[in-house]
Amino acid sequence: MKPTLLHVGAVVRDADHVDEAPTYIVMENGRIREIGSGRYPRSTEDMDVYERPTSVAIPGLINCHGHAAMTLLRGAGDDMPLMRWLHDRIFPLEAKLTADAVYWGTLLACWEMIASGTTCFTDMYFFMDDAARAVAEAGIRGVLSVGLVGLQEEAGRQGLARTRQFARTWHGAADGRIRVTLGPHAPYTCPPRYLEQVAELSAELDLPIQIHLSETAGEVEDCVREHGRSPIALMRDLGLFARPVLAAHCVHLSEDDIAILAQHNVHVAHNPQSNLKLGSGIAPVPRLLRAGITVGLGTDGAASNNNLDMFEEMRLAATLHKGVGLDATAVTASEALAMATSEGAKAVFLEPGHGRLQVGAPADIVLLDLDSPVLLPIHNLISNIVYSASAAQVTDVFVGGRALMSRGELTTLDTERIRFEVRRLVKQLRAPAPV
Ligand SMILES: [Zn+2]
Repeated sequence: MKPTLLHVGAVVRDADHVDEAPTYIVMENGRIREIGSGRYPRSTEDMDVYERPTSVAIPGLINCHGHAAMTLLRGAGDDMPLMRWLHDRIFPLEAKLTADAVYWGTLLACWEMIASGTTCFTDMYFFMDDAARAVAEAGIRGVLSVGLVGLQEEAGRQGLARTRQFARTWHGAADGRIRVTLGPHAPYTCPPRYLEQVAELSAELDLPIQIHLSETAGEVEDCVREHGRSPIALMRDLGLFARPVLAAHCVHLSEDDIAILAQHNVHVAHNPQSNLKLGSGIAPVPRLLRAGITVGLGTDGAASNNNLDMFEEMRLAATLHKGVGLDATAVTASEALAMATSEGAKAVFLEPGHGRLQVGAPADIVLLDLDSPVLLPIHNLISNIVYSASAAQVTDVFVGGRALMSRGELTTLDTERIRFEVRRLVKQLRAPAPV
């Protein structure tokens, strides 16, 4: 592939370093080869050149928690608490999902994520071979796991076997864009003995784990009643935290829980919108950050958000905790941007360099239109991005140096076809079951 040259009006290298001046970026072999001020000083022959003098380049956003194909269930059950939402609406609809549906639902998610500046996302679902195929085709990065539920022994065993096969087929596939993790759903769907087996398999495959933990007060109460300790303490005692773990939600935590998470270097995916919408609560993010815990940001599935726009999560993360703690410094714009980029990369176990624009880093770059009224004027570019921007300002997206969106046009996805297939599939999903 030819090197790609970008001329932009400004660069956010990371959440603390901004160049508010014309800059060039050269991408080659999937990585950033050069960044320099002004115009590229040498011949641009044999380069793909993108002239975007009124754009700012930022690191691609990293969505640290979600269930991509749940785009098909967007709006299918709203204004309900988590357990009723799951059991009355989501599980019955998910029982009707086919491999084909997961494939098209994941492509719809990839379309939405690319168009809103996300270059890497995590997924925990089923029919994951079909989800991985969608990720490979879309050109985005995915940290993927087979959702594991261990309430029935045989289904639990099959899930572990499927995970083993999935890791063999997909870990490192699509030019390294796909990573595999283990995905036990939650302590209330995975009994202790099963979670021990998950930890053993994680060690054997040398792959991290992602799991939902302490999402609702009810979950924590049930766990204390059943196991005599919180979900966090239970995970430690089962040996799960001896492995690298990304814990989604962590809304209801005691001081002891926070100490355990810090001590075992457990990463947290904060999903403010989903937690608000399901009435689950608000994660104690300022306390997690103070304890030195790596916190990334996620949207969760589109059935509980209801979109996959990471700009909304950034703004919520940066405003919500101020209101709750009556402290305008609680989570700063720079901290929120880091959670969606460099800290998010760390949270999902990508190697250093991801989530930053620096020489040698993977060329995952998003361009925002500085001519947009919401980005005018610039007193503080990071403040504009976190408190004012939205998906609407994203014009171009590169992953591994490849343009997935150029001037608003998707290059890898047939959006017309996705629209058609999603409408077809949802008609089937909504049809009454045959009698
Ligand atoms: Zn989730």
